Amino acid sequence: MAKKNYLKRGFKAKAERISNKFRAELGLEFNQPLCGFELAKHLNIEVMSPEILGLDNQQLDVLMGNSKESSGWSALTMTNYNDKKIIIHNTRASEARQQSDLMHELAHIICEHEIVVPKGVVLPSYMRYYDRNQEAEAEYLGSALQLPRECLVWALTTGNMSKKEISTNYSASLQMVNYRINTTGIRKQIKYIRA
Ligand SMILES: [Zn+2]
Repeated sequence: MAKKNYLKRGFKAKAERISNKFRAELGLEFNQPLCGFELAKHLNIEVMSPEILGLDNQQLDVLMGNSKESSGWSALTMTNYNDKKIIIHNTRASEARQQSDLMHELAHIICEHEIVVPKGVVLPSYMRYYDRNQEAEAEYLGSALQLPRECLVWALTTGNMSKKEISTNYSASLQMVNYRINTTGIRKQIKYIRA
């Protein structure tokens, strides 16, 4: 997960503000789940399956794995001839994984990170061409979009949710819930957290 030292000072607070802002723009309460597909639509970004790349079944299996359990590749962002951003993602991943993959790619776009793809590079090695700072930012903002700090505090207190319930309610993996609990520092503020 993201290494703190790659994040610029103030970025975490900024990420929380961005996440709350998008919830408001989509007419959601601060504590409601934000769907990555809805956010992409709102930002006028197309989300597609890698089938459009013209890969055959065997290549798709290699790229995405052939079951929900296989880890496979996550997602990438491309720019089309109209200069429009397109996200191509692993449609075979679990719902929680699809959400975090999408949020991660959206975070890169929201932060206006530049992708530099060297000539002749083919899938799936594509996705590595952001630098470490940009990756750390996308990691943090992506996770904040899924589970903003304020929302997480609400869920753990007023909402009376266990980590498992938060995971289900916000389509986030348990690993993501734990990551957010640790990275937001809310453990200091909330004494008892149910698994
Ligand atoms: Zn990334």
